[in-house]
Amino acid sequence: MTNNVKTIGIFGGGQLGQMLSQAAASLGFKTCIYSPDENSPAFMNSDYQILAEYDDISKLDEFVNKIDFATIEFENIPIDTIQFISNKIKVYPPINAIEISQDRIKEKNFCKKLGIKTNQFQNIESIKDLDSWDFSKKSVLKTRMLGYDGKGQTLINSYQEAVDAFNAMGQFPCIIEEFVYFSKEISTITARDKFGSIFTFPPSENVHKNHILDVTEAPANISNELEIKLYQTSANILEKLNYIGILSIEFFMEKDSEEILVNEIAPRVHNSGHWTLDGSNISQFEQHIRAVTGMRIVEPELLFKTRMLNLIGEDVHKWDTTDSNDIQKIYIYGKNEVKKGRKMGHVNFIYNEQTKK
Ligand code: AMP
Repeated sequence: MTNNVKTIGIFGGGQLGQMLSQAAASLGFKTCIYSPDENSPAFMNSDYQILAEYDDISKLDEFVNKIDFATIEFENIPIDTIQFISNKIKVYPPINAIEISQDRIKEKNFCKKLGIKTNQFQNIESIKDLDSWDFSKKSVLKTRMLGYDGKGQTLINSYQEAVDAFNAMGQFPCIIEEFVYFSKEISTITARDKFGSIFTFPPSENVHKNHILDVTEAPANISNELEIKLYQTSANILEKLNYIGILSIEFFMEKDSEEILVNEIAPRVHNSGHWTLDGSNISQFEQHIRAVTGMRIVEPELLFKTRMLNLIGEDVHKWDTTDSNDIQKIYIYGKNEVKKGRKMGHVNFIYNEQTKK
């Protein structure tokens, strides 16, 4: 008897892996989560779990032998690991996309090559590299790699502050970039399948608190022209990467010009796409699973205006005190420890005119 059930291998064990596993199960797939963290929330919702470091060759072999498809839920999986796996099984999204998104300089240079606007930036590998940066404007110094949720970034107002911040970051390769006075932060969640179809969910508007995503409103309140520009820019990026799966792009909308600048690209499902679990005809998670398993993706359709609220740290104990009349869908990730700044869950408020006071 042949086994008809296929298994998707996912690198990373966070809530994104958890929600990908749930979507996979609803399409009749099993999942195998590979993570070095014994408290990975995605372990709870998967069929197989491999607890090992990303450079453990025998465990990587065990992983490959278990799975039919491979993907990621976290972009900072070491490239050597992805390469090792790629020699044995196809990994989606493609390795070049993962590599570009791991390094802020590669990411911005990639956009520049495509004629897509970003803010001004410069590579900083030594203190001497700071000599040619114009400090008359506010800037941000960020580590090129491994930064997330504002970790590894500092606001800079002078040359001396930049030197001090670069030293404090251990002189790891950095990027210095112009501080953007934005009126909105917008993101797009776009999927591409092996047939070349590309669909973007309605762009959303994001508000950050302490550099961490706090609220997403979908759809974004923007002009049709801007919406079309966001679709075109996103599709261009996925096409050039020969991408398969979901790719998320964070944009700044400049205050005066309404010009959009790419801030960051994530080769995965994204926190600002959680609203799609309830506000869309298909979720970002199902869309990703479809793409990486060779199925056709679906054209997303907005069903409800949705507001996603992240439950950060202790907020996870307060979600039921909100007095909204909108329908609330609650997602708790089951993380073993509440920590300050840690994403513990989220709530989708589905705007429902009939239930409004
Ligand atoms: P990032 O890790 O680059 O996504 O940064 C996290 C958040 O910090 C962004 O979503 C912005 O709210 C803020 N931020 C990062 N870079 C800049 C910048 N160059 N100008 C203004 N705000 C920024």
